[in-house]
Amino acid sequence: MNREQITQEIIETCLKMNKLGLNQGTSGNISARYHNGFLITPSGVPYEKLAPEQIVYISDEGKYEADKVPSSEWHFHLACYQARPELNAVVHNHAINATAVSILNHAIPAIHYMIAVTGTDNIPCIPYATFGTTELADSVKTEIKHSKALLMQHHGMIAMEVNLEKALWLANEIEILAQLYLKILPIIENVPVLSKAEMQRVLEKFKNYGLKVK
Ligand SMILES: [Zn+2]
Repeated sequence: MNREQITQEIIETCLKMNKLGLNQGTSGNISARYHNGFLITPSGVPYEKLAPEQIVYISDEGKYEADKVPSSEWHFHLACYQARPELNAVVHNHAINATAVSILNHAIPAIHYMIAVTGTDNIPCIPYATFGTTELADSVKTEIKHSKALLMQHHGMIAMEVNLEKALWLANEIEILAQLYLKILPIIENVPVLSKAEMQRVLEKFKNYGLKVK
C-alpha cells in the first residue's frame, strides 16, 4: 500500500474506533508501519476533523516531519514496531473498562478463552510511567514482545496486530474482556480462571482463529 492508502485507512480506523465507543475525546492514537518507520495520527485533533495531510511519518530512528506534530505518545508506538517486526499496526485508547482495570496494575487472567487473542494466557499490565516518556516506551517494548495487547496502569490499552483492521478488532476484544472482568471482581474474591494446560490447548486452536482479513 502507498502512503495515501495507509493514511486513508488510519483515518477510517479512527472513525470506527469512535463508533465502537473505545475512544475518550482525543486521547486515542493509531499508527501503521510504513517504509522504515510508521504513520501516526497527529496530536490533539478530533477524529472527525482529521485531514490526510495531518498524518505524520516517523522514521525508525524517531525522526518526524518538521512541519507536523505527531501524537505525544509516539514513543511507545515506535517501541511496538521495534519489538514486533511481524506486526504492522498499533491502536491505543483510554477505553473505560480497560483503563479501569489498568488502575489495579495487574494482568487480566484467563477468565475466558478469548484471552488467547493476545497470543498468550493473560492481558498483562505495565506499571505506571508518565505518558509520552521513553520510560513508558521501554516498558511497552518489553511487554509487547509477549502479548499483542497490554494495559498501562492509570492510562489505557495498546493493541498491536498485522494490520489496522485486526488491531482495532483486538482492541475491542480487550475492552470486552476488561468489562467482563469488572463484572466478576465485585462478586467473588478469587476469580476462577482457566488452567495453563487448557489455555495452551486454546492457544494452539487460535493459530487458525480470529478475524479473517487480507
Ligand atoms: Zn494515552
